[in-house]
Amino acid sequence: MREFVPDRAYFEPTALEYPIGQEILQRLKALDVEILHTTSHNQVRDIPGDNELQQYRNAKRTLVVGVRKTLKFDTSKPSAEYAIPISTGCIGHCHYCYLQTTLGAKPYIRVYVNMDDILRQAQAYIAERQPEITRFEAACTSDPLSIEHLTGNLARLITFMGDQPHGQLRFVTKYDLVDSLLDLPHNGRTRFRFSMNTEYMVRNFEPSTAPLADRIAAARKVAVSGYPLGFIIAPIYMHEGWEEAYTKLLQRLSEAMPDSLTDLTVELIQHRFTKPAKRVIEKRYPKTKLDLDESKRKYKWGRYGIGKYVYQDEEQARIVSLFEELVAQYLPQARIEYFT
Ligand code: SF4
Repeated sequence: MREFVPDRAYFEPTALEYPIGQEILQRLKALDVEILHTTSHNQVRDIPGDNELQQYRNAKRTLVVGVRKTLKFDTSKPSAEYAIPISTGCIGHCHYCYLQTTLGAKPYIRVYVNMDDILRQAQAYIAERQPEITRFEAACTSDPLSIEHLTGNLARLITFMGDQPHGQLRFVTKYDLVDSLLDLPHNGRTRFRFSMNTEYMVRNFEPSTAPLADRIAAARKVAVSGYPLGFIIAPIYMHEGWEEAYTKLLQRLSEAMPDSLTDLTVELIQHRFTKPAKRVIEKRYPKTKLDLDESKRKYKWGRYGIGKYVYQDEEQARIVSLFEELVAQYLPQARIEYFT
């Protein structure tokens, strides 16, 4: 996939006092990106567009470069202790993206220039829990690989964690531009996870992300570089021919991975939606083919009174048994971490 070039970038005033802010500015200028200034990301209100939908699309092509002020990290259970904030927002248009509801009215992409502060805070969290390992998730509020060519922040984070005997990093991506990360001194402390799905899913529901073949090729490169690897198969969706399609996917993954790959995890997440998410999806992707019919699903009570619509129990059982078989057959070295 080609590197993403934003249409415009806003700089918060103090961002340019940091070397990373200056570096990002130079890169954007070289790419001829329109440079604007804002007192704070909250004040970015003039994103072009005649209606909400156009503004939403344009916001996803807008970068806001700023200083991360909140240095208290959110928790990210169960897969990590903390969410490490290096960016917020994403260039992708996945119809089922969780950011649609969590980021609400601020879909523009924010990147942070005070990485020293963020890494210092991570170090403090690691020290607090020593000798326990502290795990950080870098993709809770964005897909950090999609903008790495503009910031270099993921490389800084991977290199930092390579030096932390009690720290571990993980993130997930639907992108493929991994070359700048392959030779970093990661020391096996970063698990690089790729979100994978069937061709049907990627083509129909994941616009502006890397094609499946490119993700698979990138995963191979990452595995060859000795990173612990993970596949997140999500959302598992029972489209026509889904069993054959997921079988094909696992076959392709198996064929592409090098024999040297021994540290591999698989996370399985079924398709689910909430009522608020359904409303947002229908507004932003009105032609979506995604089946969001509550009557076909099982209602699962959730936190804060917002329940999810998941597959019926028998359907979930079919998914689990298919994937147990497929993983055992095609990725025998892998450990299934969970199905949810
Ligand atoms: Fe959301 Fe991930 Fe798709 Fe980006 S790539 S839009 S973060 S699901």
